Amino acid sequence: MVESVELPSRLAILPFRNKVLLPGAIIRIRCTSHSSVTLVEQELWQKEEKGLIGILPVRDAGETAPFGTLITPGVGSDSGEKGIKHQVVTADAHGSEARDQQEVHWHNRGVAARALHLSRGVEKPSGRVTYVVVLEGLSRFSVQELGKRGPYSVARITSLEMTKTELEQVEQDPDFVALSRQFKATAMELVSVLEQKQKTGGRTKVLLETVPIHKLADIFVASFEMSFEEQLSMLDSVDLKVRISKATVLVDRHLQSIRVAEKITQKVEGQLSKSQKEYLLRQQMRAIKEELGDNDDDEDDIVALERKMQDAGMPPHIWKHAQRELRRLKKMQPQQPGYNSSRVYLELLADLPWEKASEERELDLKAAKERLDSDHYGLAKVKQRIIEYLAVRKLKPDARGPVLCFVGPPGVGKTSLASSIAAALGRKFIRLSLGGVKDEADIRGHRRTYIGSMPGRLIDGLKRVGVCNPVMLLDEIDKTGSDVRGDPASALLEVLDPEQNKSFNDHYLNVPFDLSKVIFVATANRVQPIPPPLLDRMELIELPGYTQEEKLKIAMRHLIPRVLEQHGLNSEFLEIPEAMVKLTIQRYTREAGVRNLERNLAALARAAAVMVAENEQTLPVSKDVQKLASPLLNGRVSEGGAVEMEVIPMDVNKLDISCTFHSPSALVVDECMLEKTLGPPRFDDTEAADRVATPGVSVGLVWTTFGGEVQFVEATSMVGKGDLHLTGQLGDIIKESAQLALTWVRARATDLKLTFAGDMNVLEGRDIHIHFPAGAVPKDGPSAGVTLVTALVSLFSQKRVRADTAMTGEMTLRGLVLPVGGIKDKVRMLILSWGGCTCNEQILAAHRYGIKRVILPERNLKDLVEVPAAVISSLEIILAKRMEDVLENAFEGGGDCPWRLHSKL
Ligand code: ADP
Repeated sequence: MVESVELPSRLAILPFRNKVLLPGAIIRIRCTSHSSVTLVEQELWQKEEKGLIGILPVRDAGETAPFGTLITPGVGSDSGEKGIKHQVVTADAHGSEARDQQEVHWHNRGVAARALHLSRGVEKPSGRVTYVVVLEGLSRFSVQELGKRGPYSVARITSLEMTKTELEQVEQDPDFVALSRQFKATAMELVSVLEQKQKTGGRTKVLLETVPIHKLADIFVASFEMSFEEQLSMLDSVDLKVRISKATVLVDRHLQSIRVAEKITQKVEGQLSKSQKEYLLRQQMRAIKEELGDNDDDEDDIVALERKMQDAGMPPHIWKHAQRELRRLKKMQPQQPGYNSSRVYLELLADLPWEKASEERELDLKAAKERLDSDHYGLAKVKQRIIEYLAVRKLKPDARGPVLCFVGPPGVGKTSLASSIAAALGRKFIRLSLGGVKDEADIRGHRRTYIGSMPGRLIDGLKRVGVCNPVMLLDEIDKTGSDVRGDPASALLEVLDPEQNKSFNDHYLNVPFDLSKVIFVATANRVQPIPPPLLDRMELIELPGYTQEEKLKIAMRHLIPRVLEQHGLNSEFLEIPEAMVKLTIQRYTREAGVRNLERNLAALARAAAVMVAENEQTLPVSKDVQKLASPLLNGRVSEGGAVEMEVIPMDVNKLDISCTFHSPSALVVDECMLEKTLGPPRFDDTEAADRVATPGVSVGLVWTTFGGEVQFVEATSMVGKGDLHLTGQLGDIIKESAQLALTWVRARATDLKLTFAGDMNVLEGRDIHIHFPAGAVPKDGPSAGVTLVTALVSLFSQKRVRADTAMTGEMTLRGLVLPVGGIKDKVRMLILSWGGCTCNEQILAAHRYGIKRVILPERNLKDLVEVPAAVISSLEIILAKRMEDVLENAFEGGGDCPWRLHSKL
C-alpha cells in the first residue's frame, strides 16, 4: 500500500519517454539500454536494500523516437480493481543513447519509485544483460539539478509532498472537503459501473474507504488511458485541491465514456440481434447451400406457396393455423425430415376450395327436363323425381333435402343421371368410388403423424374439383364394408348429415372443412347392404333394369351416336341396323343395364374404324377422281378448258375429295360381321327349347347381382337306394327345397299317376340326382321350390316341360305356392331393391330369353304393378296358388293332366 517515505536528496533518474508514472501506480519495465541496465544494476540490483530511483518524464523533441517502447498489455481488468496500470517499457539499443539524451526535454518534476521486484536475464546468443523491474510510484519531487553518474543521470531533488501538519490544515478546508466528497461520489459511481461490468468483488470500494483522498486521486487517474499532457498536468498538480478537482473531472469523463460505450454496445447488439443477426445467418446459410450445391429454388417456391395461400380465401382461424405451419416450414431445411410433409400439407391447404365456387345459374326447370330427356331414354319416374328435387332447390337453395340415392344394377344410368343433375345446376361433377372401401381413413384420411399419410377421398376430391359446391357422386355406397380399421359408414354419416358436415373433420387436414355446399348423390346396386343409419339419410330412387325394347331404343338413340363419335366415325361410315342391335342384345348381352351392350357396340365401331382406315389408304384415288371428275371434265372439255388442270389439284387434295365426293356406301353391320367381331353368340334364345328337349328339365327364374336370370334344373334317376344327390354349389335352403320337392312328389306319386310311370318305380330302388347347371356360381334361396317339383314330375312322368315357360316360387310341404321374397311390407327393402326377390327382375330376365310365359306365385301379383306395361302385354303371366296350378301350366296340354283332377281337396 502507498505510504509516505522520506526522499533522499539525490536520486538516480530513469527517463520515461512520453509517459508519466504517478504516485500509487505500478509499472513493469524491461531495461535493455546500456544506461538503464547500468542504473538498475548499480542502484537496485547490487544494493542489498532495495533503493529508490526517480522517474522523470521526458518529452520528445522530434516526433517519436522512443526511449523505451511501451507495451501495454491488459489495460483494464486489473487496473479497475486497483486503479493501477502495469506497463512494460523496453529500453532500446545502446547506440542511440547519446543521441537520445541530447534530443529529449526533461520535465522538471518526477516521481520517486521503489522496485518491488527485479529479475535479471541474459539474452542469447549476444550475452547481453537485461533487467525486468516492477516499480511502484511513491511521491512527487522536483528536480533542482540534473547530472551524470556514469552512463545514467542523477538529480538533486526536493520532495513535493505535504507535511502532516500541512495535510491536516488542508483537510480542514471546506473547499477541500466539498471537492473530496464530489470526487468520492464520482469515483464510487465509476467503481459500481465497473464492478457491474466486470463482476469484480467489492475490493475497490474498500480501497475508496481506506486510502487518503489525495493518494486516491493519483491512483484512480493512473488507471485510465490519458494523453501525455493530461498525465503531466496531473503530475504537476501539487496543490491538493487542484489535484482532486482535476481527478474528479478525469474520473467523471471516464465514467461518461464508459456509459456512452455501453449504450452504443447495447444499441448495436439490439440491432444485430434482430435484422442483422438474421441477415448474417441467412448469408451463412446461403454460403452453406452454395457449398453443398443446393439452389435457391426452394425459397422461391415458398414465396409462391405463401402467395397461393393468401389467394385461397381461408377462413381466419384456418389462415392462422396455416401461417403457423408456414413459419415452421420456413425455419426448416429442405433436407430436414418433415419438411416435405409440411410442404405438401400447406399445398393442400392452399389448393382446397375454401370459398371458390362455381356460380350457380338460375335454374331453368324446363331446360333441366329437356337435358335429362335428351341424355336418357325412358326412366320417366326417375326423371320426375329428379325434377322435383331440382324444383325444391330452386325455391329454397339451401334446403337440406335428403340425399338422392340411385339404386339399380350396373349400367342402368345411375352415374350419368347424377352428372346430368350437375349439368342442370351448372355445377362441377365429381365421382368418388367407394366400392371396396373398408377403412375409415379412406374417407377421413390419416393423421399427419403417420408416414405417407394422405387426406381422405372427400378432401382429395374437393381439391381435384377445385370448387366448394360440386355435385359429388358417392358411387357404390353399398360396397363399403367395415373391419378392424374402423367403419367408413360412420364417417359417411357425418358427410351426409347436414347438421354435421358444416365442419367435416379430416384427420390429415386437422382443421374443419365446410361440406354443406356440396350436393351429394349416391348410387348403390342393392339396398340391403347399406347400413340403416346411412339409408335413413337418403332417398332411394330405384332404377330397374331395361327391357329388350328399351335397350334397343337406348342403343339406337344414345349409345350408337356416342360410340361412333368416340371412334371418329359417323353414320356415313358405319350403319348398325336395328335388327343387328337386337341380335346383339339377344345373343351377346345378358344384363339389366346397357354397359355390355355399349361395349359390344364399341367393338363393332372399332372394327369398322379399322376397315375405314384401311380402305382410305388402299382406295385407288385416281379411279375415284376419274369417276367423279368425268362429268366435270366433259363440261370443261366442251368449254375448251385445260383438262389436266382439273385433275391434278384433285389428286393433290385427295383427302378433301374423299370427304366431299368420295362416298363409299357406309359400312353396314350384318350378321356375319357381328359374328366376326363379337365371336359366336354367347346367349341363344333357342337355348331354353334345346335344354328342355328331354324330360326331367325345368326352367326357373332366379336373381343374381346382375339382375334376373334363367336357371335350368336338371333331374335324373338311376337304380339305387332312394337317395337324393344334389350338385351345382347349392346352399342349405336350396338343398332343403330339393328334399321337400322330392318328398312332395313321392307323397303325391299315386295321385299324380307317377307310381309306375314307364318302367320306373318312383317310390322304390331309385336314386335321384338333381343338378343346377352353371355349377361354378353359388346358388341359394327358396324360390326354386316350384321349379324343382316340375323337374321331378317331368322326370317321373317322362313328359317334357314347355320351353317357353319359366317359373318361380317357394313351395310348402302341402303344395302351396308361396310368394318369393316374402310379403312386400315385411321385406320392403328387398322389394324396392332391383336385386331382391321381386318378381319384376325375373320377369325381365325371362323376357330376355324369349320365354313367353311366366308362372308366378299368386301372391306376387301386387309386384307386377312395377313392371312396364309393354312387358306384361308381351308375356303370358300365370298366377299359381298351389303346386297343381304350376304343373298344369308347365306342361304341354297341362289341362288334361291327371294332377289337376286329383288335386281338388
Ligand atoms: P351405372 O352408373 O348405373 O352403372 P352408367 O350411368 O355408367 O351406369 O351408365 C352406363 C352407360 O349407359 C352410360 O354410357 C349411360 O349413358 C348409358 N345409359 C344408361 N341408361 C341410359 C338411358 N336410359 N338412356 C341413355 N343412356 C343410358
